[in-house]
Amino acid sequence: MTSIGFIGLGHMGGPMAANLVKAGHTVRGFDLSPPLLDEARDKGVTPCSSLAETVEGVDTVITMLPAGKHVLSVWQELVATVPSATLLIDCSTIDIDSARKAHAMASEKGCPSLDAPVSGGTGGAAAGTLTFMIGGDQSVFTKATPIFEAMGKRIIHCGDATAGQAAKICNNMILGISMIAVGEAFVLGEKLGLSHQALYDVASVSSGQCWSLTTYCPVPGPVPASPANNDYKPGFAGALMLKDLKLSQEAAETAGATTPLGAKAAELYQLFNELGNADKDFSGIINMLREKSGAA
Ligand code: NAD
Repeated sequence: MTSIGFIGLGHMGGPMAANLVKAGHTVRGFDLSPPLLDEARDKGVTPCSSLAETVEGVDTVITMLPAGKHVLSVWQELVATVPSATLLIDCSTIDIDSARKAHAMASEKGCPSLDAPVSGGTGGAAAGTLTFMIGGDQSVFTKATPIFEAMGKRIIHCGDATAGQAAKICNNMILGISMIAVGEAFVLGEKLGLSHQALYDVASVSSGQCWSLTTYCPVPGPVPASPANNDYKPGFAGALMLKDLKLSQEAAETAGATTPLGAKAAELYQLFNELGNADKDFSGIINMLREKSGAA
């Protein structure tokens, strides 16, 4: 079993660290928020009061932080602190450029590194059913696989350094676009006098079938577990969808890719957030579309 330092014990990192403990790993944890350290202690994580204390004697460090700037600042301190050969894994969703810089810092120190963003949300983090999208050397990936298996169900090696972040950004661009498409279809169906159930019954077995419809249906009823049945409580918040769509557009601009629907989705989620929905589930965008259509 591995001795792991876990930095960032928030909505995702907290339950992920707890699952590492459940799988028999020794975990030392750190977060800037003291109440999260208390919660982590209750789950068997050793709470630490600094980054240096967290990484004492560990052979692997995992970061789960809000954005690229946090990861770069923490990794800068990490490479100045850990012995070379310590495995560094970042599970945050961050921009490609920051991910590249983080890998470069690790490599300069002689530390193997992986970018390993996740999908599956807080539910997947708690249940240990996350999907990991991983970028980095095959040999490092192979060695680290048991660590990911303690926190997730699907562990996918996407390619070299930054390929995990690339996969995450592309996947979530599909998700943002498809949720808007499904929302538009339900709003149009309402205008045409079509019931939600009838549209669901047809589209879920026809060419309109997609995850946004059949797992995360944005109207209440057809998929009882979707956030639409729970007043659009996240789930996956509008603020996080906007963050990921912005990352996709930043990457598209740098790479010279044309993504007009991704750009439009980012624009619509920007408006959704500005209208006070940042804390609502992202599927609630259907309500904004309905209001724009002038329906009750
Ligand atoms: P969160 O804000 O709940 O957790 C981040 C934690 O990092 C916070 O507790 C914060 O105190 C801590 N932190 C920030 N700077 C730190 C530092 N220098 N040292 C130690 N701790 C520090 O966010 P989250 O929802 O857990 O998301 C984490 C990452 O996972 C983000 O990149 C997010 O985009 C990604 N993600 C989130 C979800 C989701 O559903 N929440 C799903 C997939 C991916």
